[in-house]
Amino acid sequence: MVPRAAAQSAKQPILITADLTDVPRKLIHADMEIPVAPGPVTLTAAKWIPGNHRPSGPIDNFTGLVVHGGGRELAWRRDDVDLYAFHIDVPEGVTKLDIHVDFLAVPGNTVSSDDGSTSGLQTTMEWEEILLYPAATPVRDIPVIPSVKLPDGWKLGTALTPTSTDGDTTHFAQTTIEMLVDSPVIAGKYFREISLATDVTPKHFLDVAADAPEDLDLKPAMLDSLSKLVREAGAMYASRHYDSYHFLLGLSDSEQSNGLEHHQSSDNRTPEHAFSDDSVAQLYADLLPHEYTHSWNGKYRRPIGLATPDYATPMKGNLLWVYEGMTEYLGQILAVRSGFDTPEQFRENLAFSAAELDVKPGRTWRDLEDTAVSSSILRGTSREWSNWRRGQDYYREGELIWLDVDTTIRKLTHGQKSLNDFCALFLGKGGNTPPEVVPYDFDELVATLNQVVPNDWAAFLRERLTSKAAHAPLEGITRSGYELTYSDGPSSYERALFGRGGVIDAYFSAGIFARHDGVISDVRVGSAAYKAGLGPDDKIIAVNGRAFSGPVLALALKSAKGTTQPIDLIVENTDYFRVVHLDYHEGAKYPVLKRIDNTPDVLSQILTPLTR
Ligand SMILES: [Zn+2]
Repeated sequence: MVPRAAAQSAKQPILITADLTDVPRKLIHADMEIPVAPGPVTLTAAKWIPGNHRPSGPIDNFTGLVVHGGGRELAWRRDDVDLYAFHIDVPEGVTKLDIHVDFLAVPGNTVSSDDGSTSGLQTTMEWEEILLYPAATPVRDIPVIPSVKLPDGWKLGTALTPTSTDGDTTHFAQTTIEMLVDSPVIAGKYFREISLATDVTPKHFLDVAADAPEDLDLKPAMLDSLSKLVREAGAMYASRHYDSYHFLLGLSDSEQSNGLEHHQSSDNRTPEHAFSDDSVAQLYADLLPHEYTHSWNGKYRRPIGLATPDYATPMKGNLLWVYEGMTEYLGQILAVRSGFDTPEQFRENLAFSAAELDVKPGRTWRDLEDTAVSSSILRGTSREWSNWRRGQDYYREGELIWLDVDTTIRKLTHGQKSLNDFCALFLGKGGNTPPEVVPYDFDELVATLNQVVPNDWAAFLRERLTSKAAHAPLEGITRSGYELTYSDGPSSYERALFGRGGVIDAYFSAGIFARHDGVISDVRVGSAAYKAGLGPDDKIIAVNGRAFSGPVLALALKSAKGTTQPIDLIVENTDYFRVVHLDYHEGAKYPVLKRIDNTPDVLSQILTPLTR
């Protein structure tokens, strides 16, 4: 690293122009002018991507690097250890480098959502795809002036401030590398910008791109919910930490679905009909509320270990059960309060995730906090044996913990206070501010909870974070007036979740998920299926002598209820067949929340809007 050269270069802004004219064939070009001083210089691409919490900068698709200085091509050499860093010897008399790169928006090795960010008709470009900047300098200290060149007739939306246009090129006001990486650009042939909650200051926009023009005609109810969301979040978080806010929404079956938070915008990508087809809409109900909540919880208030000065510094994920877990809880609540979701859909969704966590055997060897610490290795892992590995449980188990906190506050204060009061203090700290990062640690979190209502919150949280109990912390559900139980048919949420993918769910009963062709995708450790010797990639050929299908398996599970006769399966694995006796007699089981009689329905109170 060469801080001397980097520090000098930081005085003049970098110029970067993204050329999106080749987006239809999944190529993005960029030209940069980077001020430098003569001597050795290290430039770097972004590695640890904010919001991804992992080293997912798409360096494998970062190509076509050519460096010019003083009118001639200069050699670059990649660092032997840090593959994101490039060393260049800048000759005497040269004060800027002209750099060209090409980003390949195609599948890559870093499992980056950048790789799947374009269709033939739109892109959501995150600037880390094409960016180099001087190493070893805090990214908030590096000025940059960005521009974007579009294909003929395309339009764009972004939280960057436009200053002028010049043909197909839009120029933006000077910002910093930190805010550039925080400000993606959505662009498309079919594009619309819609003002939201026009009674609210600052301004809010929906910037939507679609692969078909008719998909831009979003339902009035959806737009109404978005405006409500803006008002509800303002009421709950008692502050705003942006100059304006842009919901970027890419509707496409060709792009990778995604949600990535930023201070002043969010990169939301869903299937084409995610908001128009009621059978899938509930799966995306909390996407925008979740990413929007991150503007407060995650971007403005950030765990100290994630508040890194640049994208080379490794991130520490131990507080992700706050960053993601509380956002999961708040996002789901806001989805109901603003009308994206109904209370019944909320309960179905919560029942499924609570049950999935409650029967997860991996919780006996790995505590919740370890799933947060291990965040960067738990994204994109395989389905097989995932119940033993555990996944990114700090999201949904974090949600259970924050429901637990919310209902405990309500109980201790006899309904006078709630998590809303905590949010106003913790997320609204300092009132309205421009986008900035205010880091926190575990102690501040606990102190703020104690400010709302005195309790041994440190012990309360530590116990839940480090527990290796066989079951999930469900006290928040019971304190809210409900209990987790099982019914003999799937909820509409479960049907939406598994219907399209053809997943056969006998997970909470016999202990398997299977595909429609009989291939088992996962076996729950400790279940009847596990005890019978089944494992992932076993293929069920026949059930009680009859060719396998979802309904045949369901009928067999139902018929075996209360009997002692095992279900006989013919199973194939790697070309060999065997007979498996599945000793399961409890019938079908699908999670559901049931009201506890004669208790207050606290959950309904939690889901009630704060604004009218
Ligand atoms: Zn999130």
